[in-house]
Amino acid sequence: MTTTAEHASGKIAPFTNETVKDFRDPADAAAIKAALAEVKSQFRRHYPLVIDGRRIETEKKIRSLNPANPDEVIGLTSAASKEQANEAIQAAARAFESWRRLTLAERAEYIFKAARLLRDRRFQYDALLVYEVGKSWPEADGDIAEAIDFLEFYAREALRFAQPQPVVPIEGEQNEMVYIPLGVGAVIPPWNFAGAIMMGMTAAAIVSGNTVVLKPSSDAAVIAAWFVDLLEEIGVPKGVVNFVPGSGSEIGDLIVTHPSVRFISFTGSKEVGLRINELAAKPQPGQKWIKRVVAEMGGKDSIVVAADADVDAAVEGVAVSAFGFQGQKCSACSRAIVDASIYDEFVEKLQRRVGQIAVGDPTDLSNYMGPVVNEAALRSIMGYIEKGQREGRLIAGGKRVGETGYFLEPTVIADVAPDATIAQEEIFGPVLAVIKAKDFDDAMTIANNTEFGLTGSLYTSDEEKIRRAREDFFVGNLYFNRKSTGAMVGVHPFGGFNMSGTDSKAGGPDYLLLFMQAKSMSRKV
Ligand code: NAP
Repeated sequence: MTTTAEHASGKIAPFTNETVKDFRDPADAAAIKAALAEVKSQFRRHYPLVIDGRRIETEKKIRSLNPANPDEVIGLTSAASKEQANEAIQAAARAFESWRRLTLAERAEYIFKAARLLRDRRFQYDALLVYEVGKSWPEADGDIAEAIDFLEFYAREALRFAQPQPVVPIEGEQNEMVYIPLGVGAVIPPWNFAGAIMMGMTAAAIVSGNTVVLKPSSDAAVIAAWFVDLLEEIGVPKGVVNFVPGSGSEIGDLIVTHPSVRFISFTGSKEVGLRINELAAKPQPGQKWIKRVVAEMGGKDSIVVAADADVDAAVEGVAVSAFGFQGQKCSACSRAIVDASIYDEFVEKLQRRVGQIAVGDPTDLSNYMGPVVNEAALRSIMGYIEKGQREGRLIAGGKRVGETGYFLEPTVIADVAPDATIAQEEIFGPVLAVIKAKDFDDAMTIANNTEFGLTGSLYTSDEEKIRRAREDFFVGNLYFNRKSTGAMVGVHPFGGFNMSGTDSKAGGPDYLLLFMQAKSMSRKV
């Protein structure tokens, strides 16, 4: 943690990751229970747009529903019209003229402050995620811990980029290269890491000197409203972050194509990412730049289990990677590719392990899995389960749980062909395909046979197989003998290849560069 005094004295401690809470600790459990009650008492609150610091309540609302109990309305967020989205972009353009003149260190100070306040309110934010997107306590806390990490990490990164950049000296000239911001950015996050990704993308954009139009996911607009309030509380000037909730299909195109928008920072599905990329490529009348698009998209992530793997460890890694947060992580394992020689043993042990997973209301810590995010997701996933039963052998789950919330059993379908639909398309739910590989070569071929390339994992005790995977397993984040989820800021810079996106490596040393451009200056002496 940093303080203003530390910052002023230039003594910022090196970055370290937040420790995720262990809710077996009675103090932490009591704290989150109190926060759950407090957040519940605020259900149905209204959250206005924020444009140039002005709060605007609109007729049209986005209702954030509790996916565990959709009768509960977590909050009502005003939805921006096209005109209001346009106003927000103009406000951001005006604010840019002063915000860009601050030093990187001055802007970093705001982000350090934001991290401190978020840390103070951690349990409330955890509780909000439990209700708004159906995260279990540990998953919610992991999300907020990661959000704090992003703030701490990007603030330090800004200080690093503030340092003189190395250029080759030459006689008779004084030369320097500095990083300057791009301009107005559209920040469009997903709902699944509703805290971490939303705050990380926003913080990276503004600490670099840009101003932002934040269009949150319609499934997680309340947490974004909380964060916008927090930024105002710490004194971020008006117009630097403008809050424009609204359905992507209604205001998305306007924001993406607006000639004053310099860059789009998007995380979400392949379909939306590709559309944004295509629209942004076409210059609009009055547009003076090529828009920069950072698009982090979907995954179809594999865990390969080699003949020489520790099967018990692999079963555990696959189970938590496939079913943590109901499989709704871009890094979730949705394909276990298992060597034929251990296939039967693996399937039998996995079936037993998955049978132990409790599904139910995430306000209760004993439930490992909560609901999927909304009704459309439930229907889409059930469609895949139905199809999967024609493409393989159902060995676990397959059904909806209860009738009130959007709960699904953890579902495993074995004997799936490598090119089957459920082995190729991103399902984004608790559905795992198990695929039998003839040998390790075959497993590697299968692992690379999708259009995605986000995360992957290999369980093996053979150094030669690790060497092969390092060369040939084509994913942005590759793990050995561990789960495929849980990338940590700074430790595992995150982003994927192919249709998984532009490999921005969030939480890594290259990330802020995506929000800046380098200016080279030379003076005759
Ligand atoms: P999504 O449906 O693509 O939505 C993402 C964001 O885009 C939301 O804010 C959405 O707003 C907005 N949007 C929708 N249509 C738009 C349009 N035409 N123009 C501009 N914006 C538009 O994805 P999601 O369901 O929120 O998130 C799940 C997906 O994200 C999965 O595919 C997952 O793999 C991926 N993901 C990737 C990473 C990564 O780092 N690679 C990380 C997390 C998630 P509305 O909600 O209003 O539609």
